[in-house]
Amino acid sequence: MKKEDPISRRIQELNERYDFLREHDWYYYLMCSDKLLGSKVRINGREMLMLASYSYLDLIGHPRIVGAAKAAIDEFSTGTHGVRLLAGSTRLHEELEDRIARFKGRSAAVTFSSGYVTNLSVISTLCGHTDVVLSDRLNHASIVDGCRLSGAKFVRFRHNDMDDLKRKLEEAPPEAGKLVVVDAVFSMDGDVTKLPALRELCDRYRAWLMVDEAHSLGVLGPTGHGIEEHFKMPGSIDICMGTLSKAIPSVGGYVAGDFELVTFLKHVSRAFIFSAALPPPAAAAAKEAFDVIEAEPQRVKRLQENTLHFIRKLNGNGFCTLASETPIVPIICGSAENACEMARLSQKEGIFVLPVISPAVPDGACRLRACVTAAHSIEQIDWAVDVFVQAARKAKLL
Ligand SMILES: *Cc1c(COP(=O)(O)O)cnc(C)c1O
Repeated sequence: MKKEDPISRRIQELNERYDFLREHDWYYYLMCSDKLLGSKVRINGREMLMLASYSYLDLIGHPRIVGAAKAAIDEFSTGTHGVRLLAGSTRLHEELEDRIARFKGRSAAVTFSSGYVTNLSVISTLCGHTDVVLSDRLNHASIVDGCRLSGAKFVRFRHNDMDDLKRKLEEAPPEAGKLVVVDAVFSMDGDVTKLPALRELCDRYRAWLMVDEAHSLGVLGPTGHGIEEHFKMPGSIDICMGTLSKAIPSVGGYVAGDFELVTFLKHVSRAFIFSAALPPPAAAAAKEAFDVIEAEPQRVKRLQENTLHFIRKLNGNGFCTLASETPIVPIICGSAENACEMARLSQKEGIFVLPVISPAVPDGACRLRACVTAAHSIEQIDWAVDVFVQAARKAKLL
């Protein structure tokens, strides 16, 4: 029996779209791999080139990091004894937070169970209904959700448009608390936020600056220390947020900043107080990964070389990649059908790459979203571009 209430209808609508994509062989989400290491992924027994991984520095499976996780299991086992504030803090958690603080050049850091939860909790802990949060239009969903949860006035400014931000800061009540929050690298377009202008505006209007480094940690800056290193502006961000699930091969999220800010978050943030500590092996793996990034700078170099080569080669073949200058490379296809067809043809040839369609991106800017990592060879990248060119010709996009 078909149910007619609004909740059932919502579920049915999504399922109709799902069925439509599956019938056209256009559905590539939730694909299960049975092996996933380096530049290759095996799906249903078939080996494919991985072009959708966030493991930017190819640290998944690194012997030092695996060893640190195993040692942590031997010493502390797998579970936690509850939340950090009470019985859940171990030596490993403290070492991880010290390591993050040192890596980011800050006096302290605090970790949470995921990057998503970090944004949700940090923004809603710092801001309330008398404040204004100003957020770039292309910010990650976890930032948007954090702003909404906070109850603050939620103001969105045009993507990377500093004049628009300035106008909106001017319009905010002078007495209100203000927080400007941006992605360092935008997760769908791969372009970089304008840190110098942001710092200047935040100083002028006495606003706090929070930057989400999910896709810039290990990626930007000559030694992968992130966006402040990229712009040669150490110490310019008030709230350095990041995740431990991308370049860092673990799970969790963090904020690095002043000792006082971190103390505040550790005693007021509900996600810190009411949710369990990171599992010991996850904490140990993350800490070791920061050491490895500094010990093996060639990984960052390789990633940056691969990025440059990939973007140049795509552009040289006539593809639009927007303003990306990072390993996240959007290959613009136009309609959702075009993007899905490009994905189908590329997957057929053995490339694991995914389409991004609305509502995640605007309707006419549907795309393949390809990510290069330090694991790729130049030959693999060249081959991938050749496959994209062939697919685009077949789909009549080039
Ligand atoms: C992935 C991502 C997050 C969430 O991090 P998780 O650790 O996966 O929860 C937050 N912000 C941005 C910009 C991201 O890309």
